[in-house]
Amino acid sequence: DAPAAGKVSTRYDLEKETELRFEVEAGEAAEQVELELIVGMAEVFGSELNRNRKYTFGPGSKIAVFTWQGCSVNLYGKPEVAYVSKDTPMLLYLNTHAALEQMRKQAERDNERGPRVMVVGPTDVGKSTVCRLLLSYAVRVGRRPTLVELDVGQSGVSVPGTVSALCIERPADVEEGFSVQAPLVYHFGSTTPGTNIKLYNKLTSCLAEVFSQRCEVNRKASVGGCIINTCGWVKGSGYQALVHCASAFQVDVVLVLDHERLYNELKRDLPHFVRVVLLPKSGGVVERSKECRRETRDEKIREYFYGFRGVSFYPFSFEVRFSDVRIYKIGAPSIPDSCLPLGMSQDDTQLKLVPVTPGRDLTYHVLSVSSVEDGDEGARKSIVESPVCGFIVVTYVDTQAQVMKVLSPAPRPLPRHTLLIMDIRFMDMK
Ligand code: ADP
Repeated sequence: DAPAAGKVSTRYDLEKETELRFEVEAGEAAEQVELELIVGMAEVFGSELNRNRKYTFGPGSKIAVFTWQGCSVNLYGKPEVAYVSKDTPMLLYLNTHAALEQMRKQAERDNERGPRVMVVGPTDVGKSTVCRLLLSYAVRVGRRPTLVELDVGQSGVSVPGTVSALCIERPADVEEGFSVQAPLVYHFGSTTPGTNIKLYNKLTSCLAEVFSQRCEVNRKASVGGCIINTCGWVKGSGYQALVHCASAFQVDVVLVLDHERLYNELKRDLPHFVRVVLLPKSGGVVERSKECRRETRDEKIREYFYGFRGVSFYPFSFEVRFSDVRIYKIGAPSIPDSCLPLGMSQDDTQLKLVPVTPGRDLTYHVLSVSSVEDGDEGARKSIVESPVCGFIVVTYVDTQAQVMKVLSPAPRPLPRHTLLIMDIRFMDMK
């Protein structure tokens, strides 16, 4: 097909082992940029490009087109920035993949489990990108690795405020990333682990347990291992959460991106058999402002309800009676140790289910729909440790009529009636 009328076309001839980096302007009005591979071979974050096909990138995209052998590509439209870089850590990342693949081969031979890898580092060092790259390379050689997403601020799998696991069966789509089918998702409720570190660690343990159980019954999953993406909070409790994660998942390899102190600390604090590797970040990784991060989060929720690019979803809006649902918040506000009832610890308060009385302040909050069976009230404790089956947003509360209006991906009735409230809000501007 011909390039969109009126779009400027720019050709780039890339030498081997170089990459073209470009950014698409952010904002609703921004023009999309199209990419086409003309000659040779190239990949975007580990996924190969097909020749003579146009890939479209929307506002705010930050992309690197890397080539091992050399190639020519065309860009259509006006990217905010576009330049070619010879200086990339891709060879180191490929070597990392090769080392992990060796471990998988050995696991296959010796009937053991494949590598469990944790990727750590401060924000904006390319952690998610490295995860995507390693996962795509692994599936390309026939493996079935699992992505464990612990970044509650910028989840690549589900809406913000969740942690999740996803079996990867094919390389990430160049435009859309990994296809998200049947992920296992848990409710955390806010965008930083610090709001409830006990809960965060608890959910990490839950995911680790489910993953280990799956590995016991599924040899391919076991050999494939997992790649764990973490939060950019690497100090204090954030650091402790990384150490906890390493032990919960019994990780074999930790990849530290661009943070020497963190590297040294982890080498000191993790058991000696854990391989801790320091890797440079790519010069192409773009720092994102708080505003930009917030927009990405909003976009992720919008996608959940309305779909993405070619695939449009049509969400439903209906009323839910207060009396038909039970809404909880996880974690009571912390109180001084000295004020706790006898025999109760801070842990108990942070993991406690606190009933929420519906009121106007629920408006715009995202609620997780727990997978816990209705009527299973005896299982109150397990609600915290149960996966969720979806999300709704409260769009209007009528306290007089005792009903709330919700935005939902599925028509009424709600599949379950135990709801967990998030700190996160979503205003539907459609
Ligand atoms: P982190 O997970 O550490 O916060 P990300 O992996 O999300 O960081 O990367 C931040 C941004 O930088 C993303 O938008 C990503 O697309 C972009 N990016 C990563 N690597 C490159 C690169 N080599 N060239 C251009 N952009 C990149």
